[in-house]
Amino acid sequence: MKNLLAPRTLEFTHHHNPAALAEMERAEILADPGFGKHFTDHMVDICWSARGGWHRPRVQPFGPIELSPAAAVLHYAQEIFEGLKAYRHQDGSIWSFRPEANAARMQRSAARLALPDLPTEYFIESLKQLIAVDGDWVPTAPDTSLYLRPFMFAKEAFLGVRAAEKVNYYVIASPAGAYFTGGLAPVSIWLSSTYSRAGKGGTGAAKTGGNYASSLVAQAEAYDNGCDQVLFLDSEENTYLEELGGMNIVLVTKDGTLLTPHSDSILEGITRDSILQLAEDRGHRVERRAISIQEWKDGAASGEIVEAFACGTAAVVAPIGTLKGVDFEITHDIGADSLALSLRQELTDIQYGRVEDVHGWMMRLDSAQ
Ligand SMILES: *Cc1c(COP(=O)(O)O)cnc(C)c1O
Repeated sequence: MKNLLAPRTLEFTHHHNPAALAEMERAEILADPGFGKHFTDHMVDICWSARGGWHRPRVQPFGPIELSPAAAVLHYAQEIFEGLKAYRHQDGSIWSFRPEANAARMQRSAARLALPDLPTEYFIESLKQLIAVDGDWVPTAPDTSLYLRPFMFAKEAFLGVRAAEKVNYYVIASPAGAYFTGGLAPVSIWLSSTYSRAGKGGTGAAKTGGNYASSLVAQAEAYDNGCDQVLFLDSEENTYLEELGGMNIVLVTKDGTLLTPHSDSILEGITRDSILQLAEDRGHRVERRAISIQEWKDGAASGEIVEAFACGTAAVVAPIGTLKGVDFEITHDIGADSLALSLRQELTDIQYGRVEDVHGWMMRLDSAQ
């Protein structure tokens, strides 16, 4: 559903939030933001209809969305989202990391969920418009950020089953504290042998809420087994690594090769792609291929596989200390020489503007340029 008639830019109207928090109240939240529980004063809202395309772009007070109880999303889950961060640099400027990659992924997700194509320029502009009013919400403390959550869903009030003809796109923002408080503690992973995350031809490669809904019982099973996160295998053979509930996975061999699953049913993370690029820049080999759980078990036992880590925007890189299943347990030590931690450092140095951005990954979001 390409919008051939889409204007090149959108003229946003701004509706100021009269109840915007005072500077002191905001400062209190930014001192300890946690993750995903506080929201900025405004949000972006753009309408789409099959007849009119994208229209009525606005920045308005953050607040409830009026929805018909018959809205298609509530019944058939026609919804997609994105997640990226705004980073405060030393000089006060505000930047995002590879937002065009998020825009492109949202277009791929939209195509799979029969939602409209949001042009990359609109996606980028929506982030800039929100930062223009809520830029003061980007925290300054080390490893903090403003998490940006663009999302789109079927708003049409219609119980028939087909792609909705009325859709809205929003962006909300939530200040995020340092993901790891008190050092980078390794995470423990539960291997689900009961549930799959996505199947062949399904929606695994799209960033859509339904994938998360179906992962929640598996995540609960992980907690019940004393683990932080769940790892899914492929649904056909129950043999090959896919990914965690919301993060990609990478293994490291003793000769410094990075192994990561190649599959049509995993979500292609921008963090993973960037980490692998940085590793290749350093001369490491990267293999994107099927990796069986047996290969990991054997490799951990023989010393062939020395590290494992999960990666995604929120945590950046989380070293895996333990993988547990019904009848086995693997552990990895996270030493001071951990490749995962050193790549994490390099990536966050780029994101926070502490080292040169040789790949041109950073895009400035605030207007002072
Ligand atoms: C968003 C997401 C990731 C990580 O993607 P990033 O672009 O690195 O944040 C991985 N898996 C799933 C299922 C996701 O939704």
